[in-house]
Amino acid sequence: MTNIRNYKFRLYPNDSQQNKLQNNLAVCRWVYNKFVEQTKNGFLSRNDMNYILTELKQSESWLYQYHSKMLQMVSTQIEGSEKALIELAKKGHKTGQLRFARYRDYRTFTYNQSGYKLETHGDKTLLHLSKIGYVEIRRHREIPGIIKQVIVTKSKSGKWFACLTCDVSEPLTIPKISFAKAVGIDVGIKSFAYDSNGHSTPNPLNLKKMLKPLVRAQRKVSRRKKGSNNRLKAILHMQRIHEKIANRRKDSQHKLSAAYAKNNDVVFAEDLKIPNMVKNHKLARSIMDSSWGAFLQKLEYKCKLLVKVSPRNTTIDCFRCGNKVPKSLAVRIHRCDKCNLVIDRDYNASINILKKGLEMFNLSAKIDSILPQELRELTRVEISMRSRKHEEATGLVR
Ligand SMILES: [Zn+2]
Repeated sequence: MTNIRNYKFRLYPNDSQQNKLQNNLAVCRWVYNKFVEQTKNGFLSRNDMNYILTELKQSESWLYQYHSKMLQMVSTQIEGSEKALIELAKKGHKTGQLRFARYRDYRTFTYNQSGYKLETHGDKTLLHLSKIGYVEIRRHREIPGIIKQVIVTKSKSGKWFACLTCDVSEPLTIPKISFAKAVGIDVGIKSFAYDSNGHSTPNPLNLKKMLKPLVRAQRKVSRRKKGSNNRLKAILHMQRIHEKIANRRKDSQHKLSAAYAKNNDVVFAEDLKIPNMVKNHKLARSIMDSSWGAFLQKLEYKCKLLVKVSPRNTTIDCFRCGNKVPKSLAVRIHRCDKCNLVIDRDYNASINILKKGLEMFNLSAKIDSILPQELRELTRVEISMRSRKHEEATGLVR
């Protein structure tokens, strides 16, 4: 069993290292374009490309200044693109030929299996890259296993990152799973996540507030003249905002998913393939969609067991009596006429998700031991009284 994981770290090269990294990009791009030129005569295998590279080195001896495996790895990129084109053609799409890589689009090179080493000096960690030297790396977490490959990337705003591909294979152990520690999670706009234990996590992003500078930056870009220096500056500024938003999202997703993985053995969540989410501003909407997806992905690899259930009727069904209570998206409270249950609509949905999940394992009876005491034991009137108080307190009275 191999188990490959990627860890991304920020690099802090000094000026001369930065130049060398940039040179690496430039030479890889040069080799890339040489290969592209040759693909005009037909498909190139990796062997073909290695041969071309050896020939190139004879006439262009300066290529020896660069890490040779890095130059070889350019062929894997070409091979990947070629295969993608063939796949597209098979499916009946019209395909062109490989395109030359432009300067600003070429932002990554790879050291595979050799040419790199991690060293710790005091509280600093240095990544040694052959032909470049010791580059400071911000190691914000431990790196397990054996490093198989280092991919260096320059972000659009000019920051350098190293993505370490690690083999963390270890003897397989089957985790002990207790369904008594199961939870259902409903994701949404109002609360980013509401769970069947009654915890809600507010949306970490004030989308409107965060998107404002982005929209403004985008507008600025579109107003600047194409090809002008000012436009480039505006693009850089916009990309910085993009990165900032993405980082904040990632950070909160990691924290929340780690907490759920720690406190629960089994997590049930909606299968988001079927969109049933709140309509929203287009950009905000797409950010939320990818946010939930990324959150569930992190949950999936962190917790012992993540099971996705169909979101069908999870917001309509009354979790307690099964009565169907249709409601528009604006209605935040689930109010059942049949059993008088009055609770937050997302809370009700999360319990339905938990119920559906347990049903998949024929463990429906377990729900009584999982749900909070008060939901099971309070009389109908008491619950509705309590909820009404909560509604009044939160200003949700009809
Ligand atoms: Zn009911």
